Amino acid sequence: MSELVIDQLHATVGETPILNGVTLTVRSGEVHALMGPNGSGKSTLSNVLMGRTGYHVTGGTATLDGVDLLGLPTWERAQAGLFLASQYPTEVPGVQLADVLAAAYAAAGRDPELVPELMRDEADVIGFDRAFAGRDLNVDLSGGEKKRNETLQLAVLQPRIAILDELDSGLDVDALRAVARRLEAATSGPAALGVLAITHYSRLLQELHPDTVHIFGHGRILESGGPELVDRLEGQGYSAWVA
Ligand code: ADP
Ligand code: MG
Repeated sequence: MSELVIDQLHATVGETPILNGVTLTVRSGEVHALMGPNGSGKSTLSNVLMGRTGYHVTGGTATLDGVDLLGLPTWERAQAGLFLASQYPTEVPGVQLADVLAAAYAAAGRDPELVPELMRDEADVIGFDRAFAGRDLNVDLSGGEKKRNETLQLAVLQPRIAILDELDSGLDVDALRAVARRLEAATSGPAALGVLAITHYSRLLQELHPDTVHIFGHGRILESGGPELVDRLEGQGYSAWVA
């Protein structure tokens, strides 16, 4: 059992406070949806948790299985079992996905020779053309292809907790379904993945059934509940929470 425990997390970008006390726990096998309007700080939360530069933690804690994430460089957070599928995946010319994954396997003491076959299998599962895996990382991929590329990385790396930032953006209905099914499969079984799915559409949530839904606004969670919160949101919009 793994758990990501976020407690009263505060963070700024430059001088501006963006996160204002986020408290949230995600455990193995759980799917949490975090929904909030544009600019409310959802991506900032994911970036702060993964240790992207430019963000400053001003209070609170975040641990993964007791390990203090906030004190670690990004690669050590990944080794601790945290994965981020970024809203805007970075293009890395000259570096191939297969090499990145093999290096990650080697760094974690796993056999990098397992990677090529795993990549082929996982690409087939999510309907991702195997040829893309041989291209430079995210270079010349469409928005939807980048999202499938992120999902492929997740499936091969098998993290404990995954943060999916707008994974649904750019995916057509079929791709969305394939990706959601793969994620659902990952959240069951012995090494069950815990998921924090950030989205502002309910489309993904119709496929990836969340256990808990959080309404996010002004840099913190305003209300948490079951899937019925999505229906209320569809009916009332965010204005019911963030007037
Ligand atoms: P969301 O993902 O909920 O749409 P973001 O976390 O991306 O929101 O952004 C929250 C606010 O923080 C926005 O006003 C955005 O412009 C600002 N912000 C986020 N990241 C940066 C950054 N690296 N540099 C400057 N401003 C940023
Ligand atoms: Mg965002």
